[in-house]
Amino acid sequence: MSRKPIIAGNWKMNKTVKEAHEFVEAVKDKVPSADLVDSVVAAPFLALDRLVADAKGSDLKISAENVHFENSGAFTGEVSPVMLEDLGVQYAIIGHSERRAMFAETDETVNKKVLASFAHHLIPIVCVGETLDEREGGKWQSVVKNQVTKAFAGVPSDQAADVVVAYEPIWAIGTGKSASSDDANEVCAYIRKTVADLYDETVAAKVRIQYGGSVKPATIGDLLAQSDIDGALVGGASLQPESFLALLDAVK
Ligand code: PEP
Repeated sequence: MSRKPIIAGNWKMNKTVKEAHEFVEAVKDKVPSADLVDSVVAAPFLALDRLVADAKGSDLKISAENVHFENSGAFTGEVSPVMLEDLGVQYAIIGHSERRAMFAETDETVNKKVLASFAHHLIPIVCVGETLDEREGGKWQSVVKNQVTKAFAGVPSDQAADVVVAYEPIWAIGTGKSASSDDANEVCAYIRKTVADLYDETVAAKVRIQYGGSVKPATIGDLLAQSDIDGALVGGASLQPESFLALLDAVK
């Protein structure tokens, strides 16, 4: 089974609307064909409307960095899946470790957001991953299995195959310390096995699993060469057009 790679930049709380627009203008005609790779930028909510319009007709896809699970209501400061669908946003990052750690995101809210995303034609990029203590304590399997199992709860098998899972060991995010490609692949293979146990081998073979954690243009090639790594979720190295394009070049 060959899976199309997916490389996504996660800008976090960076770039004004003008800066985001300039980035997309700089890269949109240079990203590889969408037949070869899904090239995605996840931008702050404020920029999404502009970026969807900027990227229209190109092979670049636009993602939100978060989404609420309700369609509307008294949730001050939140953005709903209806609003993102209305803009034409295609992906939503869900359960990033920064949101789990700083904004009280739980496995339960992650699951609700996955279900709400599918209800509004957004492809969820679900982040999972262990802390350094959990890794050193030999607990990464149980942590990752639990996060994946809870995230997929209630997702029918035809939609499950479309979930993108981002394996992001927390100790590797923004630290400059990347997991080795072998270690990252071991966890990604374990995530795939978990999906096979939840569904079946066919669904597991279709699910795309990214690695995230200090990925750079110089390191992405080794990661993508691994059997169970289908792409990358990249923070710091996705902020400059040249660096983002260099990450995509690794797929060609
Ligand atoms: C991320 O933001 O998901 C991430 C992996 O960041 P960085 O690439 O900077 O470690």
